[in-house]
Amino acid sequence: MKLAIIGGTGYVGLTTAVCFAFKKHRVYCVGRSKEKIEKLQQGIPPIYEEKLEEMLKTVLASKTFVPTLNLEEAVIDSDVSFLCVGTPSREDGSIDLSQIIDASKQVGKALKKKKDYHVVVVKSTVVPGTTEEIVIPILEKESCKKAGKGFGVCMNPEFLREGQAIKDFMFPKNTGIVIGELDKKSGNTLYKLYEDFDAEILRTSLRAAEMIKYARNSYLAKDISFANEIANICQRLGIDFLEVKKGMEMDVRIGKGRFLNAGVGFGGSCFPKDVKALIEKAKAVGIKPRILESSIEVNELQPYQAVEMLKQHLKELKGKKIAVLGLSFKPGTDDMREAPSIKIVNALIKEGAEIYAYDPVAMENAKRIFSSSIKYVESAKEALANADACVIVTDWPEFGDGKLYRHLRGEILIDGRRIVDPRTIPSRLLYCGIGYPSNK
Ligand code: NAD
Repeated sequence: MKLAIIGGTGYVGLTTAVCFAFKKHRVYCVGRSKEKIEKLQQGIPPIYEEKLEEMLKTVLASKTFVPTLNLEEAVIDSDVSFLCVGTPSREDGSIDLSQIIDASKQVGKALKKKKDYHVVVVKSTVVPGTTEEIVIPILEKESCKKAGKGFGVCMNPEFLREGQAIKDFMFPKNTGIVIGELDKKSGNTLYKLYEDFDAEILRTSLRAAEMIKYARNSYLAKDISFANEIANICQRLGIDFLEVKKGMEMDVRIGKGRFLNAGVGFGGSCFPKDVKALIEKAKAVGIKPRILESSIEVNELQPYQAVEMLKQHLKELKGKKIAVLGLSFKPGTDDMREAPSIKIVNALIKEGAEIYAYDPVAMENAKRIFSSSIKYVESAKEALANADACVIVTDWPEFGDGKLYRHLRGEILIDGRRIVDPRTIPSRLLYCGIGYPSNK
């Protein structure tokens, strides 16, 4: 098939574009930044994701992947277009649909000039009702065609995780594929595109597909906040949360592999903004979403647990040198959106601490967020060699090696992700972790 991916320079759009091109579809990867499109043409991805660069080079060479700024041409020459543009939060937490509205207008205008049947797929995360109440009316107005007759519409939420985006997209067995469809014809077109993926495919209404994405993210976010609350209680009661977690997971009704990861909280471009958007949508229809609100409330405070532990042990943070290991919101990505490191680093700066920060891939993005007072160093070792204390903020695997902390000049190690086994660090160090008893 021929596809147009709108928002092709972002995390979801570029992954979608490269992966479909890898599966031998002809893909127009449509962006709006000339610089990023030129980079893509040279085989340089504007974001970091494992295997992405390699695959980009392959699909460019096979000519199945065409980076372009020309949305109209891309839509006219394709069978299906995917809207993968951003849906960030507005100031009040509700969803900002401006990119969706703009992209729908542009696609609608292109559809006006197109003779053949075309399916528009909303892949961005949008609150329930958006496709029917906003996207379709815009497409109809701009194209002067009727949805279901002149063109088809689907809503196809994306479940990939940054850091494992390529693998998740190519092998969606663990998440399944959801196709929300305006009518059978629209859904059948998208089904054809996905039928060779090894995964269950669920076909639903447009609104149910939109809601499935929010329900999943809110459920997972709630698990993390629940784990954090229990871990905070454990820490005060002298109980190791990791033992409790193991004990919980023995119960088949809870099960292994749940999101019971205690730490400095969740961040990223999805959980915080999606839970907040669902809260606002629920309020708009007269529901007070108590569980959703609590998930956010626990999460907003959780990064400060690490700062509190530092204060407890160093007493005064003014003038203290702190190694911050990890800046991205999770390992495997350079994405800094809503990363817990932002709250932690800003709080430490406010207390007068000197920051030595290291992240394997996110330092360039971090420089756009933090004041120039931070020192960025080239390795974890270098950060530790300067520091009175260390905080592990992102669980990059390299930070899990206890031997690394031989290089820590000071004595305090705050493990904000519980990735280091305290038995493997030098005995002169004091290990403190989220949900780790302070008297141990
Ligand atoms: P992003 O900000 O990285 O990418 C969006 C891209 O769209 C940007 O590069 C922007 O320049 C481009 N864009 C906007 N309007 C455009 C237009 N008219 N024409 C061409 N390009 C345009 O965002 P993202 O993280 O890729 O997320 C995209 C959507 O997918 C969001 O709704 C998000 O909630 C959802 N989602 C994200 C993830 C994730 O892990 N990042 C996972 C699942 C779902």
